[in-house]
Amino acid sequence: MSHTLAITKIVDVTHDVRQFTFEKPDGFEFTPGQAAEVGIDKDGYRDADNPFTFTALPEWDELQFTIKIYPEHDGLTQQIGKMSVGDSFIVGDPWGTIEYKGKGTFIAGGAGVTPFIAILRMLKERGELSGHRLIFANKTEADIILKDEFDAMDGLEVIYVLSAEDKGGYERGRVDKAMLQRLVGNTSQHFYVCGPDPMIESVNAALKELGAEPDALVFEE
Ligand SMILES: Cc1cc2nc3c(=O)[nH]c(=O)nc-3n(C[C@H](O)[C@H](O)[C@H](O)COP(=O)(O)OP(=O)(O)OC[C@H]3O[C@@H](n4cnc5c(N)ncnc54)[C@H](O)[C@@H]3O)c2cc1C
Repeated sequence: MSHTLAITKIVDVTHDVRQFTFEKPDGFEFTPGQAAEVGIDKDGYRDADNPFTFTALPEWDELQFTIKIYPEHDGLTQQIGKMSVGDSFIVGDPWGTIEYKGKGTFIAGGAGVTPFIAILRMLKERGELSGHRLIFANKTEADIILKDEFDAMDGLEVIYVLSAEDKGGYERGRVDKAMLQRLVGNTSQHFYVCGPDPMIESVNAALKELGAEPDALVFEE
């Protein structure tokens, strides 16, 4: 079943990522980490089926998506980037993406952090952040989604990795085997990986070589 939901708030999170808020329909349920197929209430885009992840918590009165806009693609997010408060999304039923299974390390590339936003917010609410680590890869500091919120998550170890900018306080390069070995050490823990296809492939391969069994979700780019 799909729901037509009017946008109640839009917030710029970075130069190309926006947070869209909607009133939650009665009885709408999901778990942190789940996504839904989304279209928009505009000719040609009602049947779009790009998945986006719920970034609010299930107990909030609102739904929220955190969406990277690609203005140069002739696609859905180009249109989403033009939307205003009052315009509507068409949201399908939630389905599973990454399921939280216990303490461990979250490894995200760009908008691939979205399933972890909801999961980390849930762990914060429960007072269970300690013992978790977020390794968050981006091109530059300006691309980091919700940095202030992650930095304020007491107990969470956060490591930002920049591939296209040298800056103090940040890891430089790509998340590879040597970096994982240095940053993570113990591989008998859960690994949750989400990002663009090439990153998932190389991070998964590195983790497997280190003896870990990652749960991974590919975000096409
Ligand atoms: C389970 C899951 C959950 C997801 N959750 C989120 C989320 O919460 N937030 C988020 O931001 N993303 C999320 N994504 C990713 C998201 O679904 C798509 O990556 C995003 O919709 C792509 O936007 P688009 O505008 O390119 O889309 P599309 O409508 O698919 O547009 C693609 C169009 O762009 C063109 N195109 C493709 N590549 C290029 C290029 N390099 N240059 C120029 N044109 C190009 C194509 O020809 C096509 O016409 C998720 C993905 C998955 C699988």
